[in-house]
Amino acid sequence: MNYNLENKYDDLNEKINKVTTEQKIEYFETVSDALKKPKLEINNWRQIDDVIVVFSDLKNSTGISFDKQDKTMTKLLEYLNNPFIEIHDSYGAEFIEIKGDGGIAIYSKEKAIEALLASISIKTFYYKHINKKVKNTYSVDFEVTTGISKGTLKLKLIGKRGLNFPVWAGETINLSALISKELKHKSSPNNYIGITNDIYKEIENKKLDEYLYLCCNCGEKSNLWKSETIPNKGGKKYYYMNNTWCDIHGQEYHDKILKINHEC
Ligand SMILES: [Zn+2]
Repeated sequence: MNYNLENKYDDLNEKINKVTTEQKIEYFETVSDALKKPKLEINNWRQIDDVIVVFSDLKNSTGISFDKQDKTMTKLLEYLNNPFIEIHDSYGAEFIEIKGDGGIAIYSKEKAIEALLASISIKTFYYKHINKKVKNTYSVDFEVTTGISKGTLKLKLIGKRGLNFPVWAGETINLSALISKELKHKSSPNNYIGITNDIYKEIENKKLDEYLYLCCNCGEKSNLWKSETIPNKGGKKYYYMNNTWCDIHGQEYHDKILKINHEC
């Protein structure tokens, strides 16, 4: 390998200067449209407004990987990531990326409710099939927290021909990651889902409060969600809950929510 670092640095600087002085913004309605063949050579950011970002990650995964054998960690990551990918894909996520012990799923603006339903379904799947198994087999807690937020995202391809990656920029990614991080401070079993204020209000606007704010007839009819302030975000609030789909009413509630959501 013959690598002239001086030249590479000059090239990179020139490239970055060009990128930062000449960049333009193109606007897109949906995440899928923005992802359609962005060109490396064209120096534009692609902007999509009111995007829904879901960020989920496993608690204490670094602790697990140091203490346990590699095989255990591999299995945990399979249990964690496969349902995340499959379920978000089935609810219409337009971009999914896994980063080791967590992932992000990105939906266009009209799919906030789908993003939430997918997250509750993943949580229910973990609860029914994975949490106990992992605890019994590996003696570790399988705790996954999820943050969902809404906002503007910008997309750009970075790299060179044949080796490039979509890079997302925007406050909303940080916000959903921050909510997931905040939820990790809550007590065990910690599999909370947190949503920003605007997504919480959307539940009411779409007249889904009966199904998403309240518990089914198996439980008390009190609001499932509690609210808290996101630290250092100008007083922005988020709402969080720790419920899964009910064995008896879950499917019925889920189907009704989808139906009402599509009629809106
Ligand atoms: Zn029930």
